[in-house]
Amino acid sequence: MKVTLLAGGTGGTKLAHGFALLPDDVELTVVANVGDDAEMHGLLVCPDIDALLYTLAGLLDTEQGWGIRGDTHTAHAQFERLGEPTWFRVGDADLATHATRTRLLSEGLSLTDATARMAAALGIGARILPATDERHRTVVETDEGVLEFQEYFVHRRQAPEVRRVRFDGTARPTDAVLDAISTADLIVLGPSNPVVSIGPILALPGVRDAMREAAAPVVSVSPIVGGRALRGPADRMMTSLGHESSALGVARLHAGLVDRFVIDETDVGLGHAIQRETGASVDVLPTVMRSDDDRAALARAILDAAIG
Ligand code: GDP
Repeated sequence: MKVTLLAGGTGGTKLAHGFALLPDDVELTVVANVGDDAEMHGLLVCPDIDALLYTLAGLLDTEQGWGIRGDTHTAHAQFERLGEPTWFRVGDADLATHATRTRLLSEGLSLTDATARMAAALGIGARILPATDERHRTVVETDEGVLEFQEYFVHRRQAPEVRRVRFDGTARPTDAVLDAISTADLIVLGPSNPVVSIGPILALPGVRDAMREAAAPVVSVSPIVGGRALRGPADRMMTSLGHESSALGVARLHAGLVDRFVIDETDVGLGHAIQRETGASVDVLPTVMRSDDDRAALARAILDAAIG
């Protein structure tokens, strides 16, 4: 069973872990958002790829939700002494990830190959595919000006009101990504920010078409539960961009692309409207993943509902 999951940092990554925990024969490919990528201290940081690497290798600092558990910050203190910008906090072990990636790229590897090399070294069985090997950065137009994504997300702590989101560059998806979509038995849009995590992947030319043409059912798991994001600015961002902040609002964004919408039990009342407006099926499931068991149970329930 080939599962191809599109994911950003938090929600999609937890669901990726759920599929990876299933005992059966699930061959998992995760297509990772690269819109959040940024250069820090001369190194390429890919926050969503790192969240996947750390989660699937069992290294994630789950309390913080990013970085490596037990990491130290000696390098951070030295960057501070050197007068370097330190608003983007990088742990010592985390720094090794960014340095290794940057070295592999400087030796001529693609981001896809560099990621595969690092995932293999960390003992990860799933395939992690950057959505593209080219530059594809999310740019946020806000009431306080045009901001690079990490400038908005980390430095300004998502305080500015988002007016428009666009993607810098003319990137194309990799062949590996298009292939993972067209050969999948199940395609899942993970419960990640629809605007700045799933949005950048769907914006790559050919990705939507590949999904429409794929034989596999396409399932979208709502990252909005009870009208709110469990973490991060997805709810505010949807509202300020003119979308309803609800599972219905997410479904409207993905209408025509998705065969089944997975919504949380809290949102059972939205099921009929989603079905009526999009023509897709709706599965009502417990989608809030607090434990490893929750993650695996949701992955299993999605498989059962979509494939039987
Ligand atoms: P980021 O890169 O860390 O902002 O992460 P994502 O884009 O992956 O995730 C942000 C979204 O994930 C928010 O809308 C959250 O509500 C959603 N999310 C996080 N954890 C869960 C979960 O356990 N279940 C569901 N349904 N959504 C979640």
